[in-house]
Amino acid sequence: MSNEIWVVADLTIGGDVRKVTFEALSEARRKLVGKLGGQLCGVLIGSGVSALASELGKYGAEKVYVVENELLKDYTPEAYTVALSELIKKHNPYIVLAGNTSVSQDFLPRVAARAEAGLAVDCIDLDLTDDKRLVVKRYKYSAKSIAAVEFLDYKPMMATIRPNVFKPEEDVKNPEVVSESVEIKPEGIWTKILEVRRKESPRPELTEADRIVSGGRGLGSGENFKLIFELADAIGAAAGASRAAVDSGFVPYEMQVGQTGKVVSPTLYIAIGISGSIQHFAGMGSSKVIVAINKDPDAPIFQKCDYGIVGDLFEIVPVLTEEFKKLLAQQ
Ligand SMILES: Cc1cc2nc3c(=O)[nH]c(=O)nc-3n(C[C@H](O)[C@H](O)[C@H](O)COP(=O)(O)OP(=O)(O)OC[C@H]3O[C@@H](n4cnc5c(N)ncnc54)[C@H](O)[C@@H]3O)c2cc1C
Repeated sequence: MSNEIWVVADLTIGGDVRKVTFEALSEARRKLVGKLGGQLCGVLIGSGVSALASELGKYGAEKVYVVENELLKDYTPEAYTVALSELIKKHNPYIVLAGNTSVSQDFLPRVAARAEAGLAVDCIDLDLTDDKRLVVKRYKYSAKSIAAVEFLDYKPMMATIRPNVFKPEEDVKNPEVVSESVEIKPEGIWTKILEVRRKESPRPELTEADRIVSGGRGLGSGENFKLIFELADAIGAAAGASRAAVDSGFVPYEMQVGQTGKVVSPTLYIAIGISGSIQHFAGMGSSKVIVAINKDPDAPIFQKCDYGIVGDLFEIVPVLTEEFKKLLAQQ
């Protein structure tokens, strides 16, 4: 077992390192590296990705392992599983971390199974016990309670972190870059990527957004969601929705926040025409400031928000949007 703490970089389709990777590097450095007496390392998997090593170095990685292969150009769970599993087998890291993104949710459990390692997902706190086992905190029961989970075994202890919970903090290093070649057999890849389409959106991605404006069934129609988009654009926010709004066909599933949608953790979450079910809360309960707009003073969302406005959203939201525009124009 080495004393290395690895952070597996998560990349966007455009090939940029996602912010959650910097958050994982920063928190590992603050909470784990000193206590373990370990070395912070980044892991880059892909094709033509080695130039990104310096990006990981900016957030404290002293060493970066790079696995490059044409078969890793587009993400497939099979190829990525082989790449990371072989790397773990060869170098035996102490801890393996990643962001809790759709890609890591897909392939890290496969890697953990191959390494016979434990995997704790969507963690909101990282620490080490006195005997240097990883202990993490994660939400349970739709965010109604928080569980501390201790690893019992020292096989690579693996965890993913919830985006937007930990502060990214620069600590510039000039990392040693270690290029590794891993044999990936094309016949072992059952997933065939036909086409990769990047969705052009003027708004930030939900899971990484610092501000989110979400709409629920109270909007009444897809057309009325323009109120949500206008407010979101006025404050540079992402736009989300409740499941009822998605199931009613107002907006696409990719906007759904909640237990069966995306988990978000912005600084500001504005819930409009959303009642505040436990399933919705499971996806946005860790938002730092929650604002609710609802015409029903008894709506459960008012038990959970920091600021509540009781009233008709069709009157309130346009006024709020105009006021935000005026205020922001003055700055
Ligand atoms: C297994 C399971 C998983 C689920 N997963 C999710 C999930 O991931 N995400 C999710 O969101 N839900 C999920 N749900 C559904 C969840 O239980 C709720 O049904 C859903 O969140 C309700 O959405 P809503 O608040 O938009 O609708 P409603 O509960 O119908 O609330 C609409 C609100 O709009 C208000 N309103 C209406 N008109 C106006 C107006 N003019 N001005 C102001 N306010 C107005 C009403 O007072 C009401 O409070 C799940 C349910 C199950 C069983």
